[in-house]
Amino acid sequence: LLAALVDQAAVAIERSRLAAEMDAARLAAETERLRTALLTSLSHDLKTPLASITGAATSLREYGELYDAAAREELAVTIQGESERLSRFVANLLDMTRLKAGGIVLKREPVDLGEAVGAALQRMRGVLDEHQVAVELPAGLPMLDLDVVLLEQVLVNLLDNASKYSAPGSTIVIGAACDGRMLELTISDEGSGIPAEDLERVFEMFYRVNKGDRQRAGTGLGLSICRGFVEVLGGTIRVANRSDRSGAVFTVTFPRSVFTTLPQGDAAE
Ligand code: ADP
Repeated sequence: LLAALVDQAAVAIERSRLAAEMDAARLAAETERLRTALLTSLSHDLKTPLASITGAATSLREYGELYDAAAREELAVTIQGESERLSRFVANLLDMTRLKAGGIVLKREPVDLGEAVGAALQRMRGVLDEHQVAVELPAGLPMLDLDVVLLEQVLVNLLDNASKYSAPGSTIVIGAACDGRMLELTISDEGSGIPAEDLERVFEMFYRVNKGDRQRAGTGLGLSICRGFVEVLGGTIRVANRSDRSGAVFTVTFPRSVFTTLPQGDAAE
């Protein structure tokens, strides 16, 4: 009996060793797949804007005198817009690295949400040119104790996506509501929204809904950075599809503990 038990134990140990080896092999394969996907995506995201910039700059230098002022302006706009996209892309990569390394030092100060939204819109001016943007912030919102740089980066990423994933001419609404317990900031667009099964996954690193959609350059990093930053700031972020029409709505929620002033008209406490 003892011999049989020892045999059984040996078989079980061998099985678990094989299973562990397979797990390790699977993990290595998955890591390799992710790394290849990342490199493919990175090189695509760098190559596409660089090709536009090089093309526009070459046209300007070699054939500049053949173009009229409007055409030259268009080429200059391309160079500027694509360079800005590249800068945002590199900034996102650096942000992600800092976030992963735990290297973010917060500079908290009282932040006026309206001003932060204004600054983000200013930074995104070129990108949002072809959209209508409606800022619908109610009066009397509390000031928030936040690092304004991180908050603006979150807004910039959400606005970038809203414009990227909805048609030119459609409207992006920036709204907010505060019930005294929490403040909710929303960014809604009129795009096609996000399939239900992907709603939670879009916050994962490198996750993109339409991987085959190479039209829209992207890394799948923006939303994971948004979630990381919002959580560092003490808030939460979620996404849903709009109920009134097609489109996505991203909601950033800050609890009362982040308010530095009470919302106007709030007598509680
Ligand atoms: P990227 O835009 O670089 O691909 P993100 O992390 O910002 O990466 O977004 C992840 C994915 O979520 C996008 O690839 C896209 O499929 C989806 N997504 C993000 N924002 C929106 C939006 N406003 N409308 C529809 N889909 C969106």
